[in-house]
Amino acid sequence: MKASAKQLLDEAGQLRVVNAIQAAERGCTAEIRVHLEDVCQGDALKRASVVFAQLNMHKTTERNGVLIYVAVQSHKMAVFADAGIHDKAGTLFWQQEVDIIKQYFALGDYAGGLSKAIDHAGQVLARYYPATGSANPDELTNDVSFGS
Ligand code: CA
Repeated sequence: MKASAKQLLDEAGQLRVVNAIQAAERGCTAEIRVHLEDVCQGDALKRASVVFAQLNMHKTTERNGVLIYVAVQSHKMAVFADAGIHDKAGTLFWQQEVDIIKQYFALGDYAGGLSKAIDHAGQVLARYYPATGSANPDELTNDVSFGS
């Protein structure tokens, strides 16, 4: 039996991811979320866009939500970003995100891979959406969400 997403990212792992999101979001106004599920039939990016909508991630002021989506048993992942971001950051950024996650996942380090990808996203997003001034509300929860 294959390990489920919740087994691969236990509570300590989730906490690490949440801390990484908090740190990344301090430097930019973008909103990052992580969604894990076990199986993805079909195209991961398409599925990520559906999850993005289900999580109401389009409801940010600057349309700058980013979803890191992983289907652990299917070994599929995608990074889906809202309209405001996608063109700005460029395809290299998205490929780097996926590469980082894959490297760590190959070693079984799920929390490490996600945290590293979030750090990287935070650095890039800070260029396009720097957190200037004091208004930088946490528009979307930082908790990891799980599907099935
Ligand atoms: Ca947030």
